[in-house]
Amino acid sequence: MPPPLFRPLFRPPFRIVIVGGGTAGWMCAAGLVGRLDPTDYAVTLIESDEIGTVGVGEATLPHIKTFNDMLGIDEAEFMRETQATFKLGIQFRNWHRPDDSYIHPFGVFGEPWGGVDFQHHWVRARQAGRDVAPLDAYSYAVTAAQRNAFEFPNEDLKSIRSTYAYAYHFDASLYAQFLRRWTVARGARRIEGMVSDIARDAQSGDITALTLKSGERIEGDLFIDCTGFRSMLLGGILEVEWEDWTHWLPCDRALAVPCDRAGDFTPYTRSTAQQAGWIWRIPLQHRTGNGYVFSSRFIEVDDARDTLLAQLDGAAQAEPRLLRFSPGRRVRTWAGNCIAIGLASGFLEPLESTSIFLVQAAVIDLINLMPPATARGSIDPRLAREFNRLSELQYERVRDFLVLHYVANERIGEPLWDYVRAMELPDSLAHKIDLFRSRATAPNYQYGLFSRESWLSVLIGQRIMPTGYNRLADALDLDTLDTRLADLAGRVATNTAAMPSHSDFVASYCAGV
Ligand code: FAD
Repeated sequence: MPPPLFRPLFRPPFRIVIVGGGTAGWMCAAGLVGRLDPTDYAVTLIESDEIGTVGVGEATLPHIKTFNDMLGIDEAEFMRETQATFKLGIQFRNWHRPDDSYIHPFGVFGEPWGGVDFQHHWVRARQAGRDVAPLDAYSYAVTAAQRNAFEFPNEDLKSIRSTYAYAYHFDASLYAQFLRRWTVARGARRIEGMVSDIARDAQSGDITALTLKSGERIEGDLFIDCTGFRSMLLGGILEVEWEDWTHWLPCDRALAVPCDRAGDFTPYTRSTAQQAGWIWRIPLQHRTGNGYVFSSRFIEVDDARDTLLAQLDGAAQAEPRLLRFSPGRRVRTWAGNCIAIGLASGFLEPLESTSIFLVQAAVIDLINLMPPATARGSIDPRLAREFNRLSELQYERVRDFLVLHYVANERIGEPLWDYVRAMELPDSLAHKIDLFRSRATAPNYQYGLFSRESWLSVLIGQRIMPTGYNRLADALDLDTLDTRLADLAGRVATNTAAMPSHSDFVASYCAGV
Protein backbone atom coordinates (compact mmCIF):
# COMPACT_ATOMS: atom_id res chain seq x y z
CA MET A 1 0.00 0.00 0.00
CA PRO A 2 1.42 3.48 -0.76
CA PRO A 3 2.29 5.65 2.29
CA PRO A 4 -0.40 8.13 3.37
CA LEU A 5 0.01 11.59 1.98
CA PHE A 6 0.46 13.96 4.91
CA ARG A 7 0.69 17.05 2.81
CA PRO A 8 -0.34 18.18 -0.65
CA LEU A 9 1.96 17.01 -3.40
CA PHE A 10 3.15 20.57 -3.86
CA ARG A 11 2.93 23.33 -1.33
CA PRO A 12 5.07 26.41 -1.85
CA PRO A 13 7.55 26.84 0.99
CA PHE A 14 7.20 29.47 3.70
CA ARG A 15 9.34 32.36 2.46
CA ILE A 16 11.75 33.93 4.96
CA VAL A 17 13.46 37.09 3.73
CA ILE A 18 16.44 38.43 5.68
CA VAL A 19 17.56 41.99 4.95
CA GLY A 20 21.20 42.57 5.88
CA GLY A 21 24.37 40.56 5.46
CA GLY A 22 26.38 41.55 8.53
CA THR A 23 27.19 39.08 11.30
CA ALA A 24 23.52 39.11 12.35
CA GLY A 25 22.12 38.43 8.88
CA TRP A 26 24.46 35.57 8.10
CA MET A 27 24.21 33.98 11.55
CA CYS A 28 20.44 34.08 11.16
CA ALA A 29 20.53 32.64 7.64
CA ALA A 30 22.96 29.90 8.70
CA GLY A 31 20.87 28.96 11.75
CA LEU A 32 17.65 28.76 9.73
CA VAL A 33 19.17 26.85 6.83
CA GLY A 34 20.96 24.52 9.25
CA ARG A 35 17.86 23.70 11.29
CA LEU A 36 14.76 24.05 9.11
CA ASP A 37 13.49 21.60 6.49
CA PRO A 38 14.30 23.18 3.09
CA THR A 39 11.16 21.73 1.52
CA ASP A 40 9.09 23.74 4.02
CA TYR A 41 11.14 26.94 4.38
CA ALA A 42 12.97 28.96 1.73
CA VAL A 43 15.57 31.45 3.00
CA THR A 44 16.61 34.53 0.99
CA LEU A 45 19.14 37.10 2.18
CA ILE A 46 19.51 40.57 0.67
CA GLU A 47 22.67 42.55 1.35
CA SER A 48 23.96 45.78 -0.06
CA ASP A 49 27.63 46.19 -0.98
CA GLU A 50 26.93 49.91 -1.25
CA ILE A 51 25.99 50.16 2.43
CA GLY A 52 28.43 47.65 3.91
CA THR A 53 28.51 46.30 7.46
CA VAL A 54 29.44 47.86 10.79
CA GLY A 55 32.76 46.02 10.51
CA VAL A 56 33.66 45.74 14.20
CA GLY A 57 32.89 43.10 16.80
CA GLU A 58 35.64 40.69 17.54
CA ALA A 59 35.15 39.23 21.00
CA THR A 60 32.56 36.57 21.82
CA LEU A 61 31.15 34.43 24.62
CA PRO A 62 31.47 30.62 24.90
CA HIS A 63 27.96 30.13 23.49
CA ILE A 64 29.29 30.80 19.99
CA LYS A 65 30.97 27.40 20.07
CA THR A 66 27.57 25.75 20.65
CA PHE A 67 26.22 27.67 17.66
CA ASN A 68 29.08 26.55 15.41
CA ASP A 69 28.77 22.99 16.70
CA MET A 70 25.03 23.05 15.97
CA LEU A 71 25.90 23.82 12.35
CA GLY A 72 28.61 21.15 12.29
CA ILE A 73 31.36 23.70 11.57
CA ASP A 74 34.91 22.40 11.86
CA GLU A 75 36.60 24.43 14.61
CA ALA A 76 40.15 24.49 13.24
CA GLU A 77 38.91 25.53 9.78
CA PHE A 78 36.75 28.24 11.34
CA MET A 79 39.74 29.53 13.34
CA ARG A 80 41.97 29.64 10.28
CA GLU A 81 39.34 31.40 8.18
CA THR A 82 38.51 34.04 10.78
CA GLN A 83 42.05 34.56 12.22
CA ALA A 84 40.67 33.53 15.60
CA THR A 85 42.36 33.13 18.95
CA PHE A 86 40.93 31.61 22.14
CA LYS A 87 39.36 33.62 24.92
CA LEU A 88 39.13 32.55 28.56
CA GLY A 89 37.62 35.78 29.83
CA ILE A 90 37.98 39.55 30.03
CA GLN A 91 40.52 41.46 32.03
CA PHE A 92 39.20 44.68 33.56
CA ARG A 93 41.96 47.13 34.34
CA ASN A 94 41.48 50.27 36.44
CA TRP A 95 37.71 49.86 36.64
CA HIS A 96 37.39 50.06 40.38
CA ARG A 97 40.21 52.55 40.68
CA PRO A 98 43.49 53.13 38.82
CA ASP A 99 46.05 50.28 39.29
CA ASP A 100 43.33 47.74 39.99
CA SER A 101 42.67 44.68 37.84
CA TYR A 102 40.56 41.54 37.74
CA ILE A 103 39.48 38.91 35.24
CA HIS A 104 35.92 37.88 34.50
CA PRO A 105 36.52 34.23 33.54
CA PHE A 106 34.49 31.72 31.58
CA GLY A 107 34.49 29.19 34.35
CA VAL A 108 33.65 28.50 37.93
CA PHE A 109 35.28 29.56 41.17
CA GLY A 110 36.00 26.61 43.43
CA GLU A 111 33.54 23.84 44.18
CA PRO A 112 30.28 23.73 46.12
CA TRP A 113 30.95 21.95 49.43
CA GLY A 114 28.06 20.44 51.39
CA GLY A 115 25.67 21.77 48.72
CA VAL A 116 26.71 25.36 49.50
CA ASP A 117 28.14 27.54 46.74
CA PHE A 118 31.86 28.20 46.96
CA GLN A 119 31.71 31.94 47.54
CA HIS A 120 29.94 31.43 50.88
CA HIS A 121 32.85 29.31 52.12
CA TRP A 122 35.35 31.84 50.81
CA VAL A 123 33.56 34.78 52.44
CA ARG A 124 33.23 32.85 55.69
CA ALA A 125 36.95 32.00 55.77
CA ARG A 126 37.84 35.65 55.16
CA GLN A 127 35.46 36.85 57.85
CA ALA A 128 36.90 34.32 60.26
CA GLY A 129 40.34 35.85 59.63
CA ARG A 130 41.76 32.70 58.02
CA ASP A 131 44.66 32.82 55.61
CA VAL A 132 42.69 32.76 52.40
CA ALA A 133 43.86 33.54 48.84
CA PRO A 134 42.10 36.02 46.53
CA LEU A 135 39.10 34.55 44.72
CA ASP A 136 41.12 34.35 41.47
CA ALA A 137 43.34 31.62 42.90
CA TYR A 138 40.35 29.27 42.90
CA SER A 139 39.50 29.80 39.24
CA TYR A 140 41.18 27.62 36.64
CA ALA A 141 40.27 30.03 33.82
CA VAL A 142 41.63 33.11 35.61
CA THR A 143 44.89 31.41 36.52
CA ALA A 144 45.37 30.01 33.00
CA ALA A 145 44.63 33.44 31.50
CA GLN A 146 47.14 35.08 33.85
CA ARG A 147 49.74 32.59 32.61
CA ASN A 148 48.86 33.21 28.92
CA ALA A 149 48.16 29.49 28.65
CA PHE A 150 45.48 27.54 26.83
CA GLU A 151 44.31 24.00 26.22
CA PHE A 152 40.86 22.51 25.67
CA PRO A 153 38.82 21.75 28.79
CA ASN A 154 38.91 18.14 29.92
CA GLU A 155 35.74 16.14 29.22
CA ASP A 156 36.00 14.29 32.55
CA LEU A 157 33.70 16.41 34.72
CA LYS A 158 35.52 15.28 37.88
CA SER A 159 38.73 16.87 36.67
CA ILE A 160 39.63 20.40 37.70
CA ARG A 161 40.60 20.85 34.05
CA SER A 162 36.93 20.67 33.14
CA THR A 163 35.91 23.73 35.17
CA TYR A 164 36.09 26.33 32.42
CA ALA A 165 34.82 27.11 28.96
CA TYR A 166 36.23 29.22 26.16
CA ALA A 167 35.15 31.60 23.44
CA TYR A 168 37.00 33.20 20.53
CA HIS A 169 38.36 36.50 19.39
CA PHE A 170 37.79 36.62 15.66
CA ASP A 171 37.36 38.95 12.73
CA ALA A 172 33.56 39.31 12.61
CA SER A 173 33.59 40.35 8.93
CA LEU A 174 35.51 37.18 8.05
CA TYR A 175 33.05 35.17 10.16
CA ALA A 176 30.12 36.67 8.21
CA GLN A 177 31.85 35.72 4.93
CA PHE A 178 32.57 32.23 6.24
CA LEU A 179 28.90 31.77 7.17
CA ARG A 180 27.83 33.19 3.81
CA ARG A 181 29.78 30.50 1.94
CA TRP A 182 28.46 27.83 4.32
CA THR A 183 24.86 28.98 4.00
CA VAL A 184 24.73 29.58 0.26
CA ALA A 185 26.27 26.14 -0.29
CA ARG A 186 23.30 24.71 1.64
CA GLY A 187 20.56 26.30 -0.40
CA ALA A 188 20.01 29.88 0.81
CA ARG A 189 19.49 32.45 -1.92
CA ARG A 190 21.70 35.55 -1.73
CA ILE A 191 20.75 38.74 -3.49
CA GLU A 192 23.06 41.73 -3.73
CA GLY A 193 21.07 44.93 -3.84
CA MET A 194 19.66 47.78 -1.83
CA VAL A 195 16.09 47.66 -0.53
CA SER A 196 14.45 50.93 -1.51
CA ASP A 197 10.76 50.28 -1.01
CA ILE A 198 8.65 48.19 1.35
CA ALA A 199 5.05 47.13 0.56
CA ARG A 200 2.53 46.35 3.33
CA ASP A 201 -0.85 44.72 3.46
CA ALA A 202 -3.49 47.44 3.71
CA GLN A 203 -5.45 45.58 6.40
CA SER A 204 -2.97 43.78 8.65
CA GLY A 205 -0.03 46.13 8.14
CA ASP A 206 2.18 43.08 7.55
CA ILE A 207 5.07 43.45 5.15
CA THR A 208 4.31 41.72 1.85
CA ALA A 209 7.26 42.55 -0.42
CA LEU A 210 10.51 44.48 -0.77
CA THR A 211 11.60 46.31 -3.88
CA LEU A 212 15.28 46.75 -4.65
CA LYS A 213 16.87 49.77 -6.31
CA SER A 214 17.25 47.59 -9.41
CA GLY A 215 13.45 47.24 -9.53
CA GLU A 216 13.46 43.58 -8.52
CA ARG A 217 10.57 42.69 -6.17
CA ILE A 218 10.95 40.06 -3.45
CA GLU A 219 7.87 38.71 -1.72
CA GLY A 220 7.93 36.94 1.61
CA ASP A 221 5.92 35.53 4.52
CA LEU A 222 8.34 36.49 7.31
CA PHE A 223 10.85 39.35 7.14
CA ILE A 224 13.93 39.54 9.30
CA ASP A 225 15.44 42.96 9.79
CA CYS A 226 19.23 42.67 10.08
CA THR A 227 19.93 46.12 8.64
CA GLY A 228 22.11 47.18 11.57
CA PHE A 229 21.67 50.53 13.28
CA ARG A 230 19.32 51.60 10.42
CA SER A 231 16.65 49.15 11.61
CA MET A 232 15.00 49.82 8.28
CA LEU A 233 11.99 47.52 8.70
CA LEU A 234 11.19 47.32 12.42
CA GLY A 235 12.24 50.82 13.42
CA GLY A 236 11.84 52.58 10.09
CA ILE A 237 8.67 51.23 8.50
CA LEU A 238 6.87 49.65 11.46
CA GLU A 239 7.98 52.47 13.78
CA VAL A 240 8.49 50.26 16.81
CA GLU A 241 9.53 52.52 19.64
CA TRP A 242 13.11 52.82 20.91
CA GLU A 243 13.81 52.54 24.63
CA ASP A 244 16.83 54.66 25.45
CA TRP A 245 19.19 53.62 28.25
CA THR A 246 21.75 56.42 27.95
CA HIS A 247 21.00 57.52 31.51
CA TRP A 248 22.39 54.18 32.75
CA LEU A 249 25.02 53.60 30.10
CA PRO A 250 26.29 57.04 29.03
CA CYS A 251 28.83 55.83 26.45
CA ASP A 252 27.53 56.62 22.96
CA ARG A 253 30.59 56.67 20.68
CA ALA A 254 33.44 54.35 19.77
CA LEU A 255 36.67 54.87 17.89
CA ALA A 256 37.99 51.60 16.45
CA VAL A 257 41.46 50.94 15.04
CA PRO A 258 43.44 47.76 14.29
CA CYS A 259 47.16 47.72 15.00
CA ASP A 260 50.10 45.40 14.35
CA ARG A 261 50.41 42.58 16.80
CA ALA A 262 53.26 42.86 19.29
CA GLY A 263 54.39 39.72 21.11
CA ASP A 264 52.26 36.73 21.99
CA PHE A 265 48.50 37.04 21.98
CA THR A 266 46.68 36.83 25.28
CA PRO A 267 43.82 34.35 25.81
CA TYR A 268 41.65 37.19 27.11
CA THR A 269 40.16 40.48 25.99
CA ARG A 270 41.41 43.52 27.83
CA SER A 271 39.22 46.41 28.87
CA THR A 272 41.02 49.38 30.41
CA ALA A 273 38.94 52.09 32.05
CA GLN A 274 39.65 55.65 30.88
CA GLN A 275 38.61 59.12 31.93
CA ALA A 276 35.47 59.02 29.72
CA GLY A 277 34.90 55.33 29.02
CA TRP A 278 37.17 52.38 28.31
CA ILE A 279 39.56 50.96 25.73
CA TRP A 280 39.30 47.43 24.37
CA ARG A 281 42.20 45.32 23.18
CA ILE A 282 41.38 42.14 21.29
CA PRO A 283 44.23 39.92 20.05
CA LEU A 284 43.64 38.17 16.71
CA GLN A 285 46.17 36.06 14.84
CA HIS A 286 46.92 38.68 12.18
CA ARG A 287 46.39 41.90 14.15
CA THR A 288 45.15 43.40 17.38
CA GLY A 289 41.75 45.11 17.49
CA ASN A 290 41.45 48.24 19.62
CA GLY A 291 38.77 50.75 20.36
CA TYR A 292 37.82 53.51 22.75
CA VAL A 293 34.17 53.41 23.84
CA PHE A 294 33.38 56.79 25.32
CA SER A 295 30.68 59.22 26.30
CA SER A 296 30.47 62.29 24.09
CA ARG A 297 29.29 64.21 27.16
CA PHE A 298 32.63 63.77 28.85
CA ILE A 299 35.33 63.94 26.14
CA GLU A 300 35.92 65.44 22.68
CA VAL A 301 36.50 63.03 19.79
CA ASP A 302 40.01 64.36 19.10
CA ASP A 303 41.07 63.79 22.71
CA ALA A 304 39.60 60.30 22.67
CA ARG A 305 41.48 59.58 19.43
CA ASP A 306 44.81 60.72 20.93
CA THR A 307 44.21 58.63 24.06
CA LEU A 308 43.48 55.56 21.98
CA LEU A 309 46.49 55.92 19.67
CA ALA A 310 48.80 56.44 22.64
CA GLN A 311 47.83 53.06 24.10
CA LEU A 312 48.31 50.78 21.07
CA ASP A 313 50.75 47.86 21.33
CA GLY A 314 51.92 48.20 17.72
CA ALA A 315 51.66 50.52 14.71
CA ALA A 316 48.10 51.59 13.80
CA GLN A 317 46.95 49.96 10.56
CA ALA A 318 44.40 52.67 9.71
CA GLU A 319 42.91 55.92 10.91
CA PRO A 320 40.57 55.34 13.88
CA ARG A 321 36.97 55.01 12.68
CA LEU A 322 34.21 56.79 14.60
CA LEU A 323 30.98 54.93 15.33
CA ARG A 324 27.94 56.58 16.89
CA PHE A 325 25.37 54.59 18.81
CA SER A 326 22.65 54.87 21.41
CA PRO A 327 22.40 52.26 24.16
CA GLY A 328 18.96 50.72 24.31
CA ARG A 329 16.57 48.48 22.46
CA ARG A 330 13.37 48.35 20.46
CA VAL A 331 10.49 47.74 22.87
CA ARG A 332 9.33 44.86 20.63
CA THR A 333 11.67 42.89 18.42
CA TRP A 334 8.89 40.93 16.67
CA ALA A 335 5.99 42.99 15.27
CA GLY A 336 3.49 41.50 12.81
CA ASN A 337 5.54 39.41 10.39
CA CYS A 338 8.81 41.26 11.02
CA ILE A 339 11.58 40.36 13.46
CA ALA A 340 14.68 42.44 14.15
CA ILE A 341 17.93 40.69 15.02
CA GLY A 342 21.32 42.23 15.76
CA LEU A 343 21.93 45.96 15.85
CA ALA A 344 18.51 46.52 14.28
CA SER A 345 16.95 45.28 17.53
CA GLY A 346 19.14 47.14 20.02
CA PHE A 347 22.68 47.77 21.16
CA LEU A 348 24.56 47.70 24.42
CA GLU A 349 28.19 48.70 24.54
CA PRO A 350 30.58 45.82 23.83
CA LEU A 351 31.98 45.71 27.39
CA GLU A 352 31.06 42.04 27.87
CA SER A 353 31.02 40.99 24.18
CA THR A 354 27.27 40.41 24.27
CA SER A 355 26.02 41.53 20.82
CA ILE A 356 26.93 38.41 18.88
CA PHE A 357 25.52 36.35 21.75
CA LEU A 358 22.25 38.30 21.55
CA VAL A 359 22.12 37.55 17.82
CA GLN A 360 22.67 33.87 18.50
CA ALA A 361 20.04 33.78 21.26
CA ALA A 362 17.48 35.49 19.03
CA VAL A 363 18.18 33.05 16.19
CA ILE A 364 17.73 30.06 18.50
CA ASP A 365 14.52 31.52 19.98
CA LEU A 366 13.26 32.15 16.47
CA ILE A 367 13.99 28.59 15.39
CA ASN A 368 12.11 27.32 18.45
CA LEU A 369 9.16 29.66 17.81
CA MET A 370 9.15 29.42 14.02
CA PRO A 371 5.60 29.60 12.61
CA PRO A 372 4.55 26.39 10.89
CA ALA A 373 5.15 26.37 7.16
CA THR A 374 1.38 26.46 6.62
CA ALA A 375 1.08 29.80 8.46
CA ARG A 376 1.47 32.04 5.41
CA GLY A 377 -0.39 35.27 6.04
CA SER A 378 -1.58 34.25 9.52
CA ILE A 379 1.24 34.12 12.06
CA ASP A 380 0.10 33.24 15.58
CA PRO A 381 0.60 36.42 17.69
CA ARG A 382 1.46 34.28 20.73
CA LEU A 383 4.75 33.40 19.06
CA ALA A 384 5.61 37.08 18.79
CA ARG A 385 4.63 37.73 22.41
CA GLU A 386 6.90 34.97 23.67
CA PHE A 387 9.78 36.08 21.46
CA ASN A 388 9.40 39.64 22.75
CA ARG A 389 9.28 38.46 26.36
CA LEU A 390 12.53 36.53 25.93
CA SER A 391 14.21 39.39 24.11
CA GLU A 392 13.28 41.83 26.88
CA LEU A 393 14.71 39.45 29.49
CA GLN A 394 17.97 39.12 27.58
CA TYR A 395 18.48 42.82 27.09
CA GLU A 396 17.58 43.82 30.64
CA ARG A 397 19.84 41.21 32.18
CA VAL A 398 22.77 42.22 30.03
CA ARG A 399 22.07 45.90 30.79
CA ASP A 400 22.13 45.30 34.56
CA PHE A 401 25.39 43.40 34.31
CA LEU A 402 27.06 46.15 32.27
CA VAL A 403 25.86 48.88 34.62
CA LEU A 404 27.32 46.92 37.55
CA HIS A 405 30.84 47.46 36.16
CA TYR A 406 30.41 51.22 36.36
CA VAL A 407 28.61 51.82 39.64
CA ALA A 408 31.02 50.53 42.25
CA ASN A 409 34.02 52.69 41.38
CA GLU A 410 36.41 54.83 43.38
CA ARG A 411 37.54 56.98 40.46
CA ILE A 412 36.67 60.07 42.47
CA GLY A 413 36.80 63.43 40.70
CA GLU A 414 36.43 62.08 37.15
CA PRO A 415 33.08 63.40 35.84
CA LEU A 416 31.91 60.23 34.03
CA TRP A 417 32.77 58.05 37.01
CA ASP A 418 31.27 60.48 39.51
CA TYR A 419 28.05 60.45 37.46
CA VAL A 420 27.71 56.67 37.27
CA ARG A 421 28.59 56.20 40.93
CA ALA A 422 25.76 58.51 41.95
CA MET A 423 23.07 57.61 39.40
CA GLU A 424 19.84 55.86 40.32
CA LEU A 425 20.07 52.18 39.41
CA PRO A 426 17.46 49.99 37.73
CA ASP A 427 15.48 48.35 40.58
CA SER A 428 16.44 44.93 39.29
CA LEU A 429 20.15 45.73 39.67
CA ALA A 430 19.82 47.49 43.02
CA HIS A 431 18.15 44.35 44.37
CA LYS A 432 20.96 42.09 43.11
CA ILE A 433 23.67 44.24 44.65
CA ASP A 434 21.81 44.46 47.98
CA LEU A 435 21.32 40.73 48.12
CA PHE A 436 24.99 40.09 47.41
CA ARG A 437 26.14 42.64 49.96
CA SER A 438 24.01 41.17 52.70
CA ARG A 439 24.34 37.44 51.97
CA ALA A 440 26.92 36.77 49.22
CA THR A 441 24.14 35.45 47.01
CA ALA A 442 24.69 36.09 43.29
CA PRO A 443 21.99 35.81 40.58
CA ASN A 444 21.62 32.43 38.94
CA TYR A 445 19.51 32.43 35.78
CA GLN A 446 18.30 29.42 33.87
CA TYR A 447 17.83 31.52 30.73
CA GLY A 448 20.12 34.12 29.25
CA LEU A 449 23.14 35.94 30.62
CA PHE A 450 25.00 36.02 32.98
CA SER A 451 25.90 33.07 35.16
CA ARG A 452 26.36 33.25 38.92
CA GLU A 453 30.12 32.97 38.42
CA SER A 454 30.15 35.98 36.11
CA TRP A 455 28.23 38.09 38.62
CA LEU A 456 30.53 36.93 41.36
CA SER A 457 33.69 37.89 39.48
CA VAL A 458 32.49 41.41 38.70
CA LEU A 459 30.90 42.03 42.12
CA ILE A 460 34.09 41.00 43.90
CA GLY A 461 36.27 42.55 41.18
CA GLN A 462 34.55 45.89 41.75
CA ARG A 463 35.15 45.30 45.46
CA ILE A 464 31.59 44.89 46.61
CA MET A 465 32.30 42.71 49.62
CA PRO A 466 29.47 40.82 51.33
CA THR A 467 28.84 41.42 55.00
CA GLY A 468 27.17 38.02 55.44
CA TYR A 469 26.96 34.60 53.83
CA ASN A 470 24.77 31.52 53.73
CA ARG A 471 25.05 30.12 57.28
CA LEU A 472 24.78 26.56 55.98
CA ALA A 473 28.49 27.01 55.18
CA ASP A 474 29.15 26.87 58.96
CA ALA A 475 28.53 23.12 58.88
CA LEU A 476 32.12 22.66 57.67
CA ASP A 477 34.67 23.05 60.47
CA LEU A 478 37.19 25.82 59.83
CA ASP A 479 40.30 23.63 59.84
CA THR A 480 38.79 21.37 57.20
CA LEU A 481 37.85 24.46 55.21
CA ASP A 482 41.46 25.73 55.39
CA THR A 483 42.74 22.40 54.08
CA ARG A 484 40.21 22.30 51.25
CA LEU A 485 40.92 25.86 50.17
CA ALA A 486 44.68 25.28 50.16
CA ASP A 487 44.30 22.00 48.27
CA LEU A 488 42.06 23.61 45.65
CA ALA A 489 44.38 26.57 45.04
CA GLY A 490 47.30 24.13 44.84
CA ARG A 491 45.57 21.98 42.21
CA VAL A 492 44.67 25.03 40.14
CA ALA A 493 48.26 26.31 40.28
CA THR A 494 49.90 22.95 39.48
CA ASN A 495 47.58 22.08 36.61
CA THR A 496 47.67 25.49 34.92
CA ALA A 497 51.46 25.54 35.16
CA ALA A 498 51.53 22.47 32.91
CA MET A 499 49.44 24.05 30.13
CA PRO A 500 50.93 25.04 26.77
CA SER A 501 51.20 28.69 25.83
CA HIS A 502 48.17 30.12 24.08
CA SER A 503 50.18 31.20 21.00
CA ASP A 504 51.77 27.75 20.59
CA PHE A 505 48.41 26.07 21.03
CA VAL A 506 46.70 28.24 18.40
CA ALA A 507 49.56 27.77 15.93
CA SER A 508 49.60 23.98 16.19
CA TYR A 509 45.80 23.64 16.25
CA CYS A 510 45.31 25.79 13.15
CA ALA A 511 48.13 23.93 11.39
CA GLY A 512 46.33 20.67 12.15
CA VAL A 513 49.24 19.32 14.22
P1 FAD B 1 25.73 45.42 10.27
O1 FAD B 1 27.06 44.78 10.40
O2 FAD B 1 25.66 46.90 10.29
O3 FAD B 1 25.03 44.86 8.98
C1 FAD B 1 23.95 45.52 8.37
C2 FAD B 1 23.65 44.88 7.04
O4 FAD B 1 22.44 45.44 6.53
C3 FAD B 1 24.70 45.12 5.97
O5 FAD B 1 24.93 43.94 5.22
C4 FAD B 1 24.06 46.14 5.03
O6 FAD B 1 24.49 46.01 3.71
C5 FAD B 1 22.59 45.73 5.17
N1 FAD B 1 21.65 46.78 4.81
C6 FAD B 1 21.35 47.91 5.49
N2 FAD B 1 20.41 48.60 4.83
C7 FAD B 1 20.10 47.89 3.72
C8 FAD B 1 19.23 48.10 2.63
N3 FAD B 1 18.46 49.19 2.52
N4 FAD B 1 19.19 47.17 1.65
C9 FAD B 1 19.96 46.05 1.72
N5 FAD B 1 20.80 45.81 2.73
C10 FAD B 1 20.88 46.73 3.71
N6 FAD B 1 29.70 42.40 19.25
C11 FAD B 1 30.29 41.40 19.91
O7 FAD B 1 29.67 40.35 20.10
N7 FAD B 1 31.58 41.51 20.36
C12 FAD B 1 32.28 42.65 20.24
O8 FAD B 1 33.44 42.71 20.64
C13 FAD B 1 31.65 43.76 19.61
N8 FAD B 1 32.28 44.95 19.51
C14 FAD B 1 31.60 46.01 18.96
C15 FAD B 1 32.18 47.28 18.97
C16 FAD B 1 31.48 48.37 18.49
C17 FAD B 1 32.08 49.73 18.56
C18 FAD B 1 30.19 48.19 17.92
C19 FAD B 1 29.44 49.36 17.35
C20 FAD B 1 29.63 46.95 17.88
C21 FAD B 1 30.31 45.85 18.42
N9 FAD B 1 29.73 44.60 18.45
C22 FAD B 1 30.35 43.58 19.10
C23 FAD B 1 28.47 44.38 17.81
C24 FAD B 1 28.67 43.67 16.49
O9 FAD B 1 29.54 44.39 15.65
C25 FAD B 1 27.32 43.55 15.82
O10 FAD B 1 26.38 43.08 16.73
C26 FAD B 1 27.36 42.54 14.75
O11 FAD B 1 28.39 42.81 13.85
C27 FAD B 1 26.04 42.49 14.04
O12 FAD B 1 25.86 43.61 13.24
P2 FAD B 1 24.61 43.59 12.29
O13 FAD B 1 24.75 42.44 11.37
O14 FAD B 1 23.39 43.71 13.10
O15 FAD B 1 24.72 44.97 11.48
